[in-house]
Amino acid sequence: GLTLRQPYRALGPEFYRAVQPQGVPAPTVSLVSDEAARLLALDAPHQDDDIRQLWAELFSGNRPPAGCETICTVYAGHQFGNWAGQLGDGRAHLLGETDAPDAQQNCGFPRWEVQLKGAGRTPYSRHGDGRAVLRSSLREFLASEAMWHLGIPTTRALCLVTSPLPVPRERMETAAVVTRLAPTFVRFGHFEHFSYGGQHDALRKLVDWTIARVDPACAGADNPALALLQGVVARTARLVAQWQCVGFIHGVMNTDNMSILGWTLDYGPFAFMDGFDPAHTPNTTDRFGRYAWAQQPAVARWNLLALAQALLPLIGPPQHAVDAVEAFEAQFSQAMRARLQAKLGLDQPQPGDDDLVDAWLAAMAENRSDWTLSFRLLGALGADPSAPVPLELEALFAKRPHRFQAWIADYRGRLRQNLLGDATRKRAMDGVNPRFVLRHHLAQQVIAAAEAGDFAPARELLGVLRHPYAEQPEHAAYAAAPPQDAEAPALSCSS
Ligand code: AMP
Ligand code: MG
Ligand code: MG
Repeated sequence: GLTLRQPYRALGPEFYRAVQPQGVPAPTVSLVSDEAARLLALDAPHQDDDIRQLWAELFSGNRPPAGCETICTVYAGHQFGNWAGQLGDGRAHLLGETDAPDAQQNCGFPRWEVQLKGAGRTPYSRHGDGRAVLRSSLREFLASEAMWHLGIPTTRALCLVTSPLPVPRERMETAAVVTRLAPTFVRFGHFEHFSYGGQHDALRKLVDWTIARVDPACAGADNPALALLQGVVARTARLVAQWQCVGFIHGVMNTDNMSILGWTLDYGPFAFMDGFDPAHTPNTTDRFGRYAWAQQPAVARWNLLALAQALLPLIGPPQHAVDAVEAFEAQFSQAMRARLQAKLGLDQPQPGDDDLVDAWLAAMAENRSDWTLSFRLLGALGADPSAPVPLELEALFAKRPHRFQAWIADYRGRLRQNLLGDATRKRAMDGVNPRFVLRHHLAQQVIAAAEAGDFAPARELLGVLRHPYAEQPEHAAYAAAPPQDAEAPALSCSS
């Protein structure tokens, strides 16, 4: 059984509204993450019809958890650089929080918050219908689990509940509810709401609450709010470096979609890049490419400045807040450099490594080489200049091979200064260059099957994404780039 508490209510009525989820008709548990269930010490409802029925009622919002009031929280945010004012949980309901049986496994956090997404309208829905469609819910479910298995901090997905309820979007679709888990769902936008609304007592309460739950060491600092900000900057810098290195584009990096934990939050029009195009964004609403791959570090820094500004009433001297955010640049660059070094299998950093990395990315960009395959296949290249270049790798650079060929010669020269031999280097590279990511065309395939009522392909894909760094030769088809005629991801916000 799941025992839930709702301590967020203790912050006071200005922080939330108590709301019963509307739920959905005829709910079915269509997908479960066994690992996420274990995080809560829950038995996944595989063959047991009674447990399956209980899950369907609870995780659709149809039957709220016993003895625990469900709430929606208020936040604000900057969307596409503009102050959007009050937003809030427009289609998310916080069921409550529960103890994590094994904090060690959960990045040290002793609890999980359990949240439904898509269970109906709330006082913060504005013009929205409070719903999430099967297509986008399945994308969020698969992406968050895939991200976790890649080793990148993210909210988790416990289960996906589906319903025949029609939901109008660009076409008519059907409703689904994803149950998400996180140590907290507090966003930058929560602080912005209270700060820009002049509610500085509430702001202080929220800072104290967040420190106690996310980063208790800050409580003993001279300037706790500044210490909290410094922690968020560091975690966000690491996160964005990890995103960049798997070719992940979040798609809507508004401040209301930025977790105070520095975890990936709110999967909407995201994509894992196929061909490398630094200016690419899958979000069709983003006409100027504000949230394109190459912009993500700068946008993260911009968002951190918005958070710093919001915390200013507690931090005091603006220069302290600015300095805290300025640290982002160095922290991000360092994390990025270290990761790219590892992805190229360069041990013992050498002068010139940064240029080598830049030239590799330039060769990839001018060929639109597949991000995931380029790194993965490079692991199989021998350092010996007379050894052939693997054909599959060469094929990724066939459009404009000259820079690539020159680069391979330089790279091999550099590899001869490595301590690691070819075999050890390949093993190390395979451990940081995934073979499997949630490519858009794979998501589209399992969505099409799911919309026709068949979740077996989604379950199989989830199984593959659980081991993204393993070779899984029997699943080679999942590693391939999209077919030439596949349509590029074109996704809009909030479906
Ligand atoms: P997003 O762009 O998805 O991060 O959403 C921004 C804001 O709109 C948040 O306050 C969401 O809760 C709200 N929102 C998004 N989609 C819906 C929807 N279908 N119904 C109600 N609120 C929504
Ligand atoms: Mg959002
Ligand atoms: Mg969203």
